[in-house]
Amino acid sequence: MTELDLFTPAGDADAGGPQEEEEPLYATVAPEVPVPGAFTYRVPPALRERVQVGVRVRVPFGPRAVPGLVLELSPACGGVDARKVRPIAQVLEGAPVLDPGVLELARWTAGYYHTPLGEVLAAAVPQDVTARGRPAPKVANLAPPAPDAAPPGRLGAAQRRVLDALAAGPRRVDELCQALDVGADVVRRLEARGLVRLEEAAGPATTSSPPPAPELPELTVEQRLVLGPLLRQVEERQPVVTLLFGVTGSGKTEVYLRAIARVLELGRGAIVLVPEIALTPQTLARFRARFGDRVAVLHSQLAGEARRGEWRRVREGAAPVVVGPRSAVWAPVPDLGLIVVDEEHETTYKQEHAPRYHARDLAVVRGKQAGVPVILGSATPSLESWHNATGGRYRLARLRSRPAGSALPRVSVVDMGREWAEVKAPVVLSRLLVREVAAALERGERALLFQNRRGFTTFFMCGACGHVLKCQQCDVTLTLHRAAGAVVCHFCDHRQAPPRGCPSCLGPAMRQRGYGTERVEEVVRQLFPAATVGRLDTDVVREGEPAEVVLERFRRGEVQVLVGTQMIAKGLDIPEVTVVGVISADTGLALPDFRASERTFQLVAQVAGRAGRGPRPGSTVIQTFTPGHFALAAAADHDFERFAREELRARQALGYPPYSRALKLLLRGPDERKVQDEAARAIDDLRRALGEPDGVHAVLGPAPSPRAYLTGKFRWQALVKATPEGVRRVIRHLEEHRPRGVEWLVDVDPYHLL
Ligand code: ADP
Ligand code: ZN
Repeated sequence: MTELDLFTPAGDADAGGPQEEEEPLYATVAPEVPVPGAFTYRVPPALRERVQVGVRVRVPFGPRAVPGLVLELSPACGGVDARKVRPIAQVLEGAPVLDPGVLELARWTAGYYHTPLGEVLAAAVPQDVTARGRPAPKVANLAPPAPDAAPPGRLGAAQRRVLDALAAGPRRVDELCQALDVGADVVRRLEARGLVRLEEAAGPATTSSPPPAPELPELTVEQRLVLGPLLRQVEERQPVVTLLFGVTGSGKTEVYLRAIARVLELGRGAIVLVPEIALTPQTLARFRARFGDRVAVLHSQLAGEARRGEWRRVREGAAPVVVGPRSAVWAPVPDLGLIVVDEEHETTYKQEHAPRYHARDLAVVRGKQAGVPVILGSATPSLESWHNATGGRYRLARLRSRPAGSALPRVSVVDMGREWAEVKAPVVLSRLLVREVAAALERGERALLFQNRRGFTTFFMCGACGHVLKCQQCDVTLTLHRAAGAVVCHFCDHRQAPPRGCPSCLGPAMRQRGYGTERVEEVVRQLFPAATVGRLDTDVVREGEPAEVVLERFRRGEVQVLVGTQMIAKGLDIPEVTVVGVISADTGLALPDFRASERTFQLVAQVAGRAGRGPRPGSTVIQTFTPGHFALAAAADHDFERFAREELRARQALGYPPYSRALKLLLRGPDERKVQDEAARAIDDLRRALGEPDGVHAVLGPAPSPRAYLTGKFRWQALVKATPEGVRRVIRHLEEHRPRGVEWLVDVDPYHLL
């Protein structure tokens, strides 16, 4: 059995030998224009020496010539008619604007995830951050009067208004001009007369303030034991990966903060990956409190100038601590000293569109390439990381207790089958959960109720003819969203009016089954009419309430019971929360996915960790129809290691990751016959070509994808289990014998088999 090996560098077999003079050379260039995408250009012989990946060039674009970034060089022009390819006009700057570390990581990513380098770089370096089209914002200040200054002479009214405004302090020119409704030329004339000084703004228009010297908690013995080796690794630049395994609230974040403090003392920088920035406001606030404006936040929701500003602050070293979601792994930190991946097991680290990279794995690779330590932190590590840590590939560090001294919450598992039989009704909340919530409210405490489905009811079926209401596009059941007054497809967002009767047999009202967050919210309101009840899911956010706002209301106690999807499962650290309910813990267990048990364990353990973070003890109620499932039982006992042992045994028996690497091949198209035939042909061909099972353990399928028809396309897929070398052989084969007439894509280390 070959172990998962992430770190074999993808061979640079295609780097090519010395360039023949006659051989044509083509460049993929991302022009700095508002349309995304990259285009192929010819490299004229005169520019060959200077055109490198990462260099800015000028290229013809429509009738104009625009600057652009060279993403990739290749002797082939990628299927474009060579006669129509236009030449690069000019090299703008000699040195690449791309960070060499980022470029190296991008090359690795392109090889490992089978994605063109250009596509990786387009994701790694947001097109607009390299643009210099718009100058950095300028800040205007009153110039100190020269000693022998003559009186300023005549000033226009606009000029005088500007000077008056600046008397109160420096202002950004663009904002100032807008506020006073004057043109920028007014400010420039004042500058020319020596009355105003212009400087480049350091970053986004925030006033910089040194962080208030924070009160550092005295580290616990455990924390000190964990931190010691980490500080040494930082100081000595050891490329060691440490899995920091500690229950929620055990002080992992404090350990990251101390390690980063040392990185900063050494004049270097750090990257901190978090699963989702909007859901981790507390984590971010702690970093800001500790390191002030040396923290930059990079994420894709940041728009335009704010994003460019943050990026520049990072690249210029002004903000050596970068916090962000998966894309922050590409941050151009000049002298990287440490990478932290918080909640390393989170699936949001895997990008579900090309390039389909996993940011935790890239963090490990980047650490190796840069020669710096990496910390992966989790209370419920991924089985890949756990396997690497117990197998000696990573260091394992543990935090077993909570510094605040609070105990882990008491967890009760309620068998909902029995509950329904005993109360003779399909209740949403069990009697135990109702009692616990009532008691918490009476004590002035708060409750979190978790339901991993949005909407009101999730399933409509006709009692007469058995017809099930489904999306025409996607073949999945439609969910009733009462607030929106529609039934909604959760895959393509198709909406239609709720059915009055069965659309098939024109019979009476359809039966509704399954419940989502909306329904839970309603039930809770009915049960506890005196309590304030809130809800947080993507519907709430889409209707205009940011997650932070809802969470803040809950934190302040304006909401006493919060119902939500996994958006409430993460990062919440509120001492007053003493009761957590998992409404239906088996939602995820039945999915045809080898990670179903792992996800369920993680979710239940994470949600349970939200209770009892303060001095008062917490209680968690898990409702399920499969109370005997080992993942639930282990989660109830807070026993990750027991779960991992059992789950790894099952994975090993079936040769699933981490005992192999997986590759998913997906084919899709509007013509069912064509997709099916091509899938069969391609997989047959693959099986024949691979012959003896050298490095390839199994080729499963092809079969209709579990989502066989999505947004108007039929989907077939196959799953390959192989060694890393086997995966490369499969990719090479597919490259040489591409599936024809259908769309196809390869997902290496897939996270969703659906
Ligand atoms: P984790 O990241 O493992 O969830 P945190 O670092 O957030 O844990 O710590 C949990 C809580 O305990 C936080 O409120 C934190 O401020 C506090 N804490 C962490 N370390 C200490 C310590 N050594 N002494 C006192 N409180 C601590
Ligand atoms: Zn749909």
